[in-house]
Amino acid sequence: MKAKLSFASMYRVQLDELRLRFSESQLSWQEDVMKVIKKGSAAKGWSKRMKCTGSGNGGGGCGASLLVEHGDLLRTGSHHYDGSSDYYTSFVCSECGVMTDIENYDGPAPTRVGPGGR
Ligand SMILES: [Zn+2]
Repeated sequence: MKAKLSFASMYRVQLDELRLRFSESQLSWQEDVMKVIKKGSAAKGWSKRMKCTGSGNGGGGCGASLLVEHGDLLRTGSHHYDGSSDYYTSFVCSECGVMTDIENYDGPAPTRVGPGGR
């Protein structure tokens, strides 16, 4: 007697194969994702104690000591009539709302754009 697969069971076999292929591709995708053993000097880890002075923004800071994290940083700038621009890395004090420009900032580039920033 000839073994005859019905259309439905053939379809089911194909589905199973597809499912298998799909889970295999998921596996290989997961293998491609690297694990971070120790974070480098990446943006997320950056934080520094700063004082609210209002420097570069007319002063008037409240003098609070703040732990400024990377996510708090803003790219700011001032544009002059002669066409030149100066760019700064700044933060806004959570206590008084005054902005302070950080002198000689050498950390990872801020991701947020503040007044005059690009
Ligand atoms: Zn302040």
